[in-house]
Amino acid sequence: MYRSGAVMAWNVFKFCTALRAMGSILILLVLCVVGVSYYAVVLCIYGPALFEGSLVYSLTALVVFILFHFLLVMLLWSYFTVIFTDPGSVPPNWRPVLDEERGETALLTGAEYNGTVPVDPTNRRIWFCWKCNQLKPPRCHHCSVCGRCVLKMDHHCVWVVNCVGALNYKYFLLFLFYAFLETSLVTLSLLPQFIAFFSDGEIPGAPGMLVTTFLAFVLNLAFALSILGFLIMHISLVAANTTTIEAYETITPKWLYDLGQKRNFEQVFGMDKRYWFIPAYSEEDIRRMPVLQGLEYPSRPNADAQEL
Ligand SMILES: [Zn+2]
Ligand SMILES: [Zn+2]
Repeated sequence: MYRSGAVMAWNVFKFCTALRAMGSILILLVLCVVGVSYYAVVLCIYGPALFEGSLVYSLTALVVFILFHFLLVMLLWSYFTVIFTDPGSVPPNWRPVLDEERGETALLTGAEYNGTVPVDPTNRRIWFCWKCNQLKPPRCHHCSVCGRCVLKMDHHCVWVVNCVGALNYKYFLLFLFYAFLETSLVTLSLLPQFIAFFSDGEIPGAPGMLVTTFLAFVLNLAFALSILGFLIMHISLVAANTTTIEAYETITPKWLYDLGQKRNFEQVFGMDKRYWFIPAYSEEDIRRMPVLQGLEYPSRPNADAQEL
């Protein structure tokens, strides 16, 4: 028993180490795609087009040029914010706030807990993590790649070498959003070159430039299509106020945290509209929305009774 357990733990450890190593390569891959796209769109085609050809052609080039750079800044800003923002960890000796009016009593300590039922059976699904030896706040999960509990864990993302959780989920969604817009823009702006590549007409440019343009087109098309799938999935998750993990686990038709689409959206993006499209929260939102700290989540009135 012990032996097989040890072997399994070793395999999981190797798997997690491999995932971490792969993450660094994937960051390089993202930066390579950005580099190839920049070379093809800005340096080869639309940069030179600013100063040659008809006025309409120059104006089109200017629009592509400005949009490309704007989306690139937003994309990289969101991307590095997801990478460098802690997804949220459980504060040392965390205990849930008890509401005595609702008849909540003191919780078991870790030593008293027998591991079979939630520590707080009244409503909030508080469990005990044996690996971290601490209580888990509602919606918290243990990530085996990071080796720790992560608040409102969504998934461990190898593309950002980080967990996506309570404190960086919005930034991750913005990264998907801007990555989709940027890859779509690059695909569309290289489409005329791609068509020319297969037509019999004269194709301007050196062979190296043509290959790079072709590569940029194929890579961006592939990324745009796969990101679109992810984006649609996450939009439906935000609308229902669930995480990827919860969507797999949830069996109850009436989800405890579903507050209606508008409030579900605000729980992730904040209430300040000026901050919806940038990877940050306003000071006021952080003050007035405890949900942004990742420890407490408002639930629907009378949801407790329906869930249990
Ligand atoms: Zn844990
Ligand atoms: Zn993780």
